[in-house]
Amino acid sequence: MPTLTEYPQVAAGKVRELYAVDDDHLLLLASDRISAYDYVLPTTIPDKGRVLTAMSVFWFDLLGGANHLVSSDDPRIPDEVRGRALLVRRLRMLPVECVARGYLTGSGLADYVRTGSVCGVPLPSGLVEASKLPAPIFTPTTKAEVGQHDEAMDFAAVEATVGADLAARLRDTTLSIYRRAAEHAESRGMILADTKFEFGVDSAGEIVLADEVLTPDSSRYWAMDGYSAGRVQPAFDKQVVRDWLVSSASGWDRSSGEQPPELPADVVEYTRARYVEAYERVSGRKFADWA
Ligand code: ATP
Ligand code: MG
Repeated sequence: MPTLTEYPQVAAGKVRELYAVDDDHLLLLASDRISAYDYVLPTTIPDKGRVLTAMSVFWFDLLGGANHLVSSDDPRIPDEVRGRALLVRRLRMLPVECVARGYLTGSGLADYVRTGSVCGVPLPSGLVEASKLPAPIFTPTTKAEVGQHDEAMDFAAVEATVGADLAARLRDTTLSIYRRAAEHAESRGMILADTKFEFGVDSAGEIVLADEVLTPDSSRYWAMDGYSAGRVQPAFDKQVVRDWLVSSASGWDRSSGEQPPELPADVVEYTRARYVEAYERVSGRKFADWA
């Protein structure tokens, strides 16, 4: 049985780590770390890594098509990380974060208020926070280096980065996966407001869906009941963490530049339950059945 230390680490993000298994395979590891307001919190959320891994696997299964998943249950996955690690094909990643939006919020709304469009895609006037868009739009961003913010790109910038042919395939694939995923989510009482995909290219030149997919960390899910345009919808998963951090109870001042404090046990437990609920609602599966 391999141990994690046998594999060289090739990357470490805020929440996830990447290890090299061999020339063609990587281990994509989801930790229990949680980030909020661009900080990694000092407290972890038990099972978060396993929930998000289960969710990615659910979506890879449902979507089919070219993706990087080899196995979530392979002898090359060390026991110590089983359930929160995926064996994936190593790809040449494309330097574009492929965002699809079906609803207007966050940086998309800010862009719209300023310019009437999002990433160069013109939109009708009169849209408000959380409005449903007439049709889903492709709003790519750059893939920023550690500690930097992703920046919006218009389609011409994607073409200049990866070429016109790949750019068109990225846009079309992103929108078609978003549509199918949003339709499934809706059948389960959830709105998939927006999501981010990353694609790589394999040795045959095909674009392959990679990274995590359609998790609460890469997507905005809203509950369908209680949805109404014109106000900020609560994030399904870490709203309580955000609310607690900015409340007087935390003693933390977001503008101070200081690290946020430890989360209290009830906030941790509630947040864990929300992640599990997101998985169970979206997939119709029981988290207890996940390895
Ligand atoms: P951050 O919040 O800082 O982005 P993170 O927890 O999302 O951190 P990343 O640093 O994004 O972690 O780690 C995942 C990395 O793995 C990404 O750079 C992604 O492009 C890359 N990756 C995902 N799938 C593959 C693959 N099949 N082949 C090669 N690289 C991959
Ligand atoms: Mg990332």
